[in-house]
Amino acid sequence: MTTRALFDAALAETQAWHAALPAVSGFVAWPMDLTYQDRPPNTLSAAGLVQTAPGGPTPASTPLLSALQALAPHLEWRHTYSADEVGQHFLDRFGWFELAGPDGHFITHQTRITVGYWGAGLHYGRHEHDAEELYTVVSGHGTFHLDDAPDLELGPGDTRFHPSNQPHALTTTDSPILTLVFWRGEGLGDNPRLTQSEATS
Ligand code: ZN
Repeated sequence: MTTRALFDAALAETQAWHAALPAVSGFVAWPMDLTYQDRPPNTLSAAGLVQTAPGGPTPASTPLLSALQALAPHLEWRHTYSADEVGQHFLDRFGWFELAGPDGHFITHQTRITVGYWGAGLHYGRHEHDAEELYTVVSGHGTFHLDDAPDLELGPGDTRFHPSNQPHALTTTDSPILTLVFWRGEGLGDNPRLTQSEATS
C-alpha cells in the first residue's frame, strides 16, 4: 500500500469512528473541506510504541487502531512540550500528530482531529486551550481529570468533553492509552498551554 493509501485508509476508519459514536458526531460535523497535504515524517519513540504497546482495544476500535498503527512510521509526530516542561521520561513515552486540521496531514478549517499516545505510568499535567474538545479512547485506558468535575476512568469507545479554557489532565497507571481527539470553535491551530502551576512539576 502506498503512503497516501495508508492515510486514506486511516481517514476512512476515523470517519467511521466519528459516525459510530453519537457523542462525537453530535460534537462536530465530519469536515467537508479535507485536502491531503504531503508532510515529511517526524519519527519519535511514540511511533514505535503505538505499534508495539498501544494498550488493549475493543472489537469496535480494532480497525481504527490497526489503521493508525500502519500509519505510525509515516506520521509527522510532535511533542510540542519541552523536557524542561514535562521531563525527558514523559517525552520518551508521549507523542501526538494532527491527522486533520489547519496544519494537519489533511487540511481542514472546520475541525481539528489529533491522535495522542501516552505510555503507562505518566501524568500529563493540567493544561487548557480556547477550542472545545472531545476525547475518545481508541485503546488502553487512563484517568481523565477536569477542573470542577469528577475524575473519569476511560477505555476504548469512551469520550470526555473539555469546555473552552477549562484545565484538564490525564494520568495513566498500568496501561498506555491511545486517543483520538476532536476540536471545535476558536483556536483550532493553537497548541495547549500548561497551566502555570504545572510548568515546573
Ligand atoms: Zn485538551
